[in-house]
Amino acid sequence: MNRGANGSGVNGSGANGSGTAADTDRAGAAGESASLAVEGLVAGYGEVIALDDVTVAAGAGGITAVLGANGAGKTTLLRAVSGMIKTRRGRILLADHDVAGRSPEQIVRAGIAHVPEGQGVIPELTVEENLRIGMMSWRRGPRADRVAALEEEYARFKPLADRRRKLASTLSGGERQMLVIARALLARPRVLLLDEPSLGLAPRVMAQVMDTVVRLSREHGLTIVLVEQNARSALAIADHGFVLNLGRVVASADAATLAADVALRHHYLGF
Ligand code: ATP
Repeated sequence: MNRGANGSGVNGSGANGSGTAADTDRAGAAGESASLAVEGLVAGYGEVIALDDVTVAAGAGGITAVLGANGAGKTTLLRAVSGMIKTRRGRILLADHDVAGRSPEQIVRAGIAHVPEGQGVIPELTVEENLRIGMMSWRRGPRADRVAALEEEYARFKPLADRRRKLASTLSGGERQMLVIARALLARPRVLLLDEPSLGLAPRVMAQVMDTVVRLSREHGLTIVLVEQNARSALAIADHGFVLNLGRVVASADAATLAADVALRHHYLGF
């Protein structure tokens, strides 16, 4: 699946220019959607095996939901893909290039950005200072490119533009979620990993965040992996879904099929 893959913006064909910054280490051509495939992944914490032979795939330019109850391994999966925890076995293929075992910085440069659960803004920095952290993976490049990239995010997330000089501590929950997504986009990813972006948000704000996720996929061809406890909302926008339970994949199907499976919903999805 590859919708709008060559649109300007998040895929790096815009302000960042070719060959100037983060795309040197990238797997495949900048400006094209990239698939992500995890094959036979084993990962955990000390004695705890949190992912046991997990195989999932996210189609290029699509939204893939990863669902499951508390402790299923969803967060661990995103941590392993982004290099935050070491994998013990398996492959992590970004457009056919295995990035397993690379450092988090290398993985960001390869084109995978991770928005961790709990938002992770730095409250004592301004909105703009928080955003600039997203460009740390850029190697060099004219200052004008960075300014243009920031303006692109301010155009996408207008409330951030109005508050650019304010401390991040003054933002609402929805604005913080916008800030961490914008910061991740400034790394020019081809794959965006989102961990529970709806957590703690009011329903109206949650709907706005989900709309943003859809736009990033449909209009910009970004490949999105969406981890959610809120399975109903995630399946409403996803193309495909995987259900994890106790570190294993127990179901994989297109989103509509998963949403219609009463037994699955009852056992694993809570709706
Ligand atoms: P939740 O929605 O509650 O975050 P999850 O599906 O994301 O659940 P994980 O957080 O990935 O699940 O947890 C998977 C397993 O790994 C659980 O058994 C959990 O207790 C364990 N685990 C997670 N983080 C750690 C850690 N830092 N140290 C030890 N065990 C951990």
